[in-house]
Amino acid sequence: MKAKVHDILTKVYGHHQFRPGQQELVEGLLEHMDVLGVMPTGSGKSLCYQIPALLFPGTTLVISPLISLMKDQVTSLKLRGISAAFLNSAMEEAEYRETAYQAAGGAYKILYVAPERLQAPGFLEMCRHMDIPLVAVDEAHCISQWGQDFRPSYLKIPEFTAALSKRPVIGAFTATATPRVRKDILDNLKLEAPVTVTTGFDRPNLSFSVYSPKDRDKALSDLLRDRYRQSGIIYCATRKNVEAVCSRLDGEGFSVTRYHAGLEPDERRRNQEDFLFDRKRIMVATNAFGMGIDKSNVSYVIHYNMPKSLEAYYQEAGRAGRDGCDADCILLYAPQDVITARWLIEHSEPNPDLTPEEQAQVREKDEERLKWMTFYARSRKCLRHDLLRYFGENAPDSCNNCSNCVPDCEHVDITTEAQMILSCVARTKQQYSDDVVVQLMLGVLPYPPPEGINPAELTTFGLMNDFEEGNIREIIRALLDQGYLEKDDDSILKLNRQSEKILFGKQRAAMRRGLRNRRDITGEDLFQALQKLRYEISSKEYVAASALFSDSTLRDLCRILPKDKKQLAAVDGMGVFKANRYGDQILRVIHLFKPAAPGKRKEKKKTGSRIPSKEGSFAAYRDKVIEAGSTEAYQPWTKEEDQQLIREHESGKTTKELSEIHKRTAGAIRSRLKKLGLV
Ligand code: ADP
Ligand code: MG
Ligand code: ZN
Repeated sequence: MKAKVHDILTKVYGHHQFRPGQQELVEGLLEHMDVLGVMPTGSGKSLCYQIPALLFPGTTLVISPLISLMKDQVTSLKLRGISAAFLNSAMEEAEYRETAYQAAGGAYKILYVAPERLQAPGFLEMCRHMDIPLVAVDEAHCISQWGQDFRPSYLKIPEFTAALSKRPVIGAFTATATPRVRKDILDNLKLEAPVTVTTGFDRPNLSFSVYSPKDRDKALSDLLRDRYRQSGIIYCATRKNVEAVCSRLDGEGFSVTRYHAGLEPDERRRNQEDFLFDRKRIMVATNAFGMGIDKSNVSYVIHYNMPKSLEAYYQEAGRAGRDGCDADCILLYAPQDVITARWLIEHSEPNPDLTPEEQAQVREKDEERLKWMTFYARSRKCLRHDLLRYFGENAPDSCNNCSNCVPDCEHVDITTEAQMILSCVARTKQQYSDDVVVQLMLGVLPYPPPEGINPAELTTFGLMNDFEEGNIREIIRALLDQGYLEKDDDSILKLNRQSEKILFGKQRAAMRRGLRNRRDITGEDLFQALQKLRYEISSKEYVAASALFSDSTLRDLCRILPKDKKQLAAVDGMGVFKANRYGDQILRVIHLFKPAAPGKRKEKKKTGSRIPSKEGSFAAYRDKVIEAGSTEAYQPWTKEEDQQLIREHESGKTTKELSEIHKRTAGAIRSRLKKLGLV
């Protein structure tokens, strides 16, 4: 059996190994034991019941609270070659009947249903005639009044399973369960001596921050500008805020869409798809958006308002970084939020299934949760510590990866990075804004092209192409803050005396915060080409881009550069089915870009040995700088060299000739001549 399980994991899912907790839960179910899996969002709970479902005879029922996400989950299973379907009230009658007919005949290995189905006439009858070895209860916290998404129909699950011809094995799964909720799940679902697995709630790749900016809108725009090429979610407390924030960001030129319950279903679906398919980078939404949305490449979740509870916060924030890449969870807090949250609690729709006493209880619990949320927003201690403790976990006092820990951590030396940027500013004649300089550092040509110089010929062009854009911006901001760089009235970056100290190695620059997010990239070009291919497939086949391949799978492709379908299938997240289906297209793209990625720019450059080479490019560069004892990025002109240059210029030599004599780029020569007042 173990071999079979592993076979499915690698062949069907394309994963090399189980993540923490998965194996115990899969094996428990396969031994016909009930299980309870409490694992954070993104940790891979689906696989825990799906693998047993494939190995059991008959059809596994998955009870899942949200109709809107069933389709995605089923699509994602079909993409792995698994027969699956869903039944819910939102379906056309004919479609429902056909699916139910197929299901009754045992056509599906996995059938998703909403909890309300269990009480629908005919459904139980149908299930009694089916072979149902396993009932998986997803988002099991919905069964508890202490959970933030209490769904009374979840309470009917034990009745339903007891009425089946044979009691199935029951697996319960949730991401957010405080100890009280955990107890409710065990009791209310009537789990029998379950194998319980609680994996750490900690998501080390998430960085937590709380800011209380004076101007929230400005703070938000700044945060987004740093993340221009990334995808993220902004949560607002009210529909009104969603509308206002979305239209303001749209006006500022961001790629943004919105989602809240007040929109027409058609528009909601369209907007959600725009975001899932990467047609829009930013989703501004109320908490109506996101439950179970499997978009793995969300790089940040910003809360424009404080939510009502830490459960809600952690769940929403946890939608960032599901691909395992570094991601930011940022809460923008203002005291006014507490008042809004309290108002929302007081005016929430009463649940018609609850008695007045129960209603009052629920409200009281809401108040208490809000208190803890506020406590977090004002905390001066490690935010990760606060969160984990709230969910009943022990945690170290400091994590070095949250906004309360980071001020204590060491400064990072950014001298070399600063030299790269400052010399780029110098060589491009101090005529560009930070936006353009960032592009140049990444190796993107500005449009329209500038007159007089060809940035692609400069040694600084593409020098930081193994950095994240946000990172470069962060460094530029630090340089501006510390006075090593200036911005004129037109937002053009200018050098000053201080800059020279850094450039000539007389002073070192440092910055708070680690240099996060630098990724192992063979070529950003290939990554972007693969993203484009994914986008094309996702548009054509109407599947969410991240359900096809996650960003981390694409990164792995760039790193591993598979040569054939067999190697392709072994890449994490790929699997045999997808490798066969899309292999030709993917391999073609890799083939096209592979040889070009590292070498391409080198050939274009005249003096080019400074584009980082493939491995450890940046480190190698830094070593070279340190070895040379000065900055490679900007070799200062000596007086002698200046005099020689003047003589040669006056003797009528062309820039090209000068460039060869001085072993400097034409741009550098022109810039020096200008400085000397000769052109
Ligand atoms: P959850 O339901 O716990 O929030 P999902 O089941 O939706 O999480 O899985 C989240 C992501 O993790 C998916 O993209 C999935 O492909 C990936 N994943 C799951 N298990 C593994 C594994 N063993 N190795 C690598 N990736 C995995
Ligand atoms: Mg899930
Ligand atoms: Zn911390």
